[in-house]
Amino acid sequence: MKIEKIKKSNISKIDLNNFAFGSIFTDHMFVCSYKAGQWVNPEIKPYQSFSISPSASVFHYGQACFEGMKAFKDDNEKVWLFRPKENHQRIVKSSERLAMPAFPEELFMEALTLLIKIDKHWIKKGVGNSLYIRPFIFANQESIGATESTDYKFMIICAPANTYYTSNVRVKIEDSYSRASKGGVGFAKAAGNYAAQFYPTNLAKKEGFQQIIWTDSSNHEYIEEAGTMNLFFRINDTLLTAPTNDSILDGITRKSIIDLAKKEGLKTEIRPIKVSELISAAKSGDLKEIFGSGTAVVVLPIIGFGYKNTNYDLPIIENSWAILLKKKLNDIQYNISNDPFNWRHEV
Ligand SMILES: *Cc1c(COP(=O)(O)O)cnc(C)c1O
Repeated sequence: MKIEKIKKSNISKIDLNNFAFGSIFTDHMFVCSYKAGQWVNPEIKPYQSFSISPSASVFHYGQACFEGMKAFKDDNEKVWLFRPKENHQRIVKSSERLAMPAFPEELFMEALTLLIKIDKHWIKKGVGNSLYIRPFIFANQESIGATESTDYKFMIICAPANTYYTSNVRVKIEDSYSRASKGGVGFAKAAGNYAAQFYPTNLAKKEGFQQIIWTDSSNHEYIEEAGTMNLFFRINDTLLTAPTNDSILDGITRKSIIDLAKKEGLKTEIRPIKVSELISAAKSGDLKEIFGSGTAVVVLPIIGFGYKNTNYDLPIIENSWAILLKKKLNDIQYNISNDPFNWRHEV
């Protein structure tokens, strides 16, 4: 792999205690091209803009997908990835659905570890601080022919991250727009899935919510997920989450939370959840907690939700499962506890 390093790090120009997530990037990036049926010219070089043709098919047909993962620094300056091969497998699945070539696992892991080693001084220690890593693939053939591209680029960029959302998150259960449909691309981290969410999310924001809880596109009867997070519900002493299907993204945080909850002895059920079930549980007081799970937020407690112009507030409880599970997950990610599941990967 070709490696070109920056002359002087840009880190001194940035206030790492005060920045908007996703707006600043580390010194280097990884780029690899796909041409004539092969991945060629893997390269780590200074983070920079590049030129691409106006006819590049990604602009016209949205053939692109991405991943989101994090690296964490422990107290001894060691850097750890969390289940990175899961991210690789998922980008291969997403790519397949979007008729894009698989990026090889070995090259993915090599590029990832080299890039993080080079930019590791961008990762701050301490729970809450991390490096957000964004691998992505896009169609780069210079053609507006409406077929899949012959050329692609695979890239990795990295952004320092601290705690994502703050608190007091309220969500709206959506009963008219849909994020994904049966047979569609909802399970893939397709770039276009996000584009389609912005408009309905803006409408929800105007009503005072931060995010949307998506429901099934056929009848808006079953809970799906929250667009950037999978969802968990605690009804009395049972933790519920919906099974993944082709309209729900198979979150790596979600599956980790399920494993941790089981290990903690919490009763966990993976089954379809009806909106009506949540509403009755909220009314009767049986609904104790809702939280989202995702790489960016880790675990995000939700304080209330709206459905058909009625607002429901969750009780403030002691012994929150969201807080417990977040701590257990963070302890593994930051090498604070042991790692019974073998999830950590040293960089
Ligand atoms: C990425 C993503 C998630 C969370 O997945 P993680 O692997 O836990 O980060 C949930 N929903 C959607 C739609 C996503 O794109």
